[in-house]
Amino acid sequence: MSPREFGRLNPCMPQGSVTAAPLGFVPAWVDGESIYGWASRFHRLYGTSEKGTGLFLFGRSHACRLRDAPSGLDRFCLATAGVLGDAESLLRFRTPVGFFWPLLSTMNRDRVIQASMSTAGIRVPMALGLPAARMGSVHPLARCTECDLLSRRNDVVPTWMLSFQIPSAWLCPIHRRPLAQLRGLRNYWEYPDTASTVELPSPASPLEESALALLAEQGRLLLQTSHADILALRHATLHLLRGIGLCATYKRLSERRVQKFFDVSPIAQLFGRHPETKRLPRGAWIPDLLRGRAAGHPLKWLLLWNALTWEMRTDVAISTFADALNGVNSLCMGDQLPLWEADHISVSPTVPFFVKKAFDESETLHDAACALGITSGAARRWLEDYPDLLHEWKEKRFESRLQRARRNLNNALTANPELDRAGLLRLCRADDEWLRRHSPRTMRAILDRIPSSIGPQMALF
Ligand SMILES: [Zn+2]
Repeated sequence: MSPREFGRLNPCMPQGSVTAAPLGFVPAWVDGESIYGWASRFHRLYGTSEKGTGLFLFGRSHACRLRDAPSGLDRFCLATAGVLGDAESLLRFRTPVGFFWPLLSTMNRDRVIQASMSTAGIRVPMALGLPAARMGSVHPLARCTECDLLSRRNDVVPTWMLSFQIPSAWLCPIHRRPLAQLRGLRNYWEYPDTASTVELPSPASPLEESALALLAEQGRLLLQTSHADILALRHATLHLLRGIGLCATYKRLSERRVQKFFDVSPIAQLFGRHPETKRLPRGAWIPDLLRGRAAGHPLKWLLLWNALTWEMRTDVAISTFADALNGVNSLCMGDQLPLWEADHISVSPTVPFFVKKAFDESETLHDAACALGITSGAARRWLEDYPDLLHEWKEKRFESRLQRARRNLNNALTANPELDRAGLLRLCRADDEWLRRHSPRTMRAILDRIPSSIGPQMALF
């Protein structure tokens, strides 16, 4: 039934009213389609004018402008008799709001649902906190040229897919081809030809392409996640950062080092090269993400995790991220770090296995640094950050120095059987000094083995 027919059959219905009767026929979803795609497809099949379709489906004549977060979902549910889902499921599974959903609090979810149904309160981007995140909320519609060709070949009407409209979308994960974005802010329900679209820049290297493919999978995962455990996500992130030696505790998170690490990652290089297309968050956003009280913009989490895991196999990187989002990481107690000053409690973080191994197998700090591939200063920082490791290292160094001093003195005595005490002390001055200071008993035991040239002291009385 077209809007025109609908209006004819319902002459009493004032234009823009929310008391719409259900449509006679509701086209089914195309797999992965967004609500905007569905409305666009409906318009192409049954619509008359842009305004008419907007009013008919959403009760708003300008609905074709609301690409990311449509309002008027109450009207849509009535018009479709709820067979395509209720307002919440439409928001979650058919709009880019689903990208933000896992990180939203219950209160914010209610506000977003309210904003999607009423024009009286705040708008959806405001309810999502996008202005505060300074990440923008209006994105050009995007599609994959190859996917469209495939649809046409299978006699399916091409449509706007949800996974291509989320903030992290860049590459079609199936065809590994950059998405084509609709040029300008065109306010039509149409699905224009390729002349109206422009492809996003291609990745400059296979590394960037892998990072983008991972980003697409990460975005898809987020869309499928109902709730993210933000505390577990933060712990898991700190765990990864600690694993590569970038932080030991939240207090020792060096903004400069972490930012430098992120800046050289393939995803940051690519985003940084095309700021006109995709803008990176500005300023010191990583520490804020890890310490802040707000959950943070999902794209920031995706970018940081992309930089942390792009070298892993994609399935491993995705399952690690999924575990972090769902809070099922098998974190050891040492990882349960306090995140804010007020929560500070004394904890003993667990030393990463490869760091402990390097220190266990090295004799000097320089050796340990070489084994870890870091500077001696960085190796020293590991010791400062992990009191248990420092304690073990000190004990090991003491035992090793003691054995060396004992060995040097014994070797000197074996080589010079005639050596008297004064001679031995002259020959091994450094060992003598160290032993007198740290283990005088050992020194006494060694000296007692040398017969004294002076006879026993006479009794004075
Ligand atoms: Zn494709």
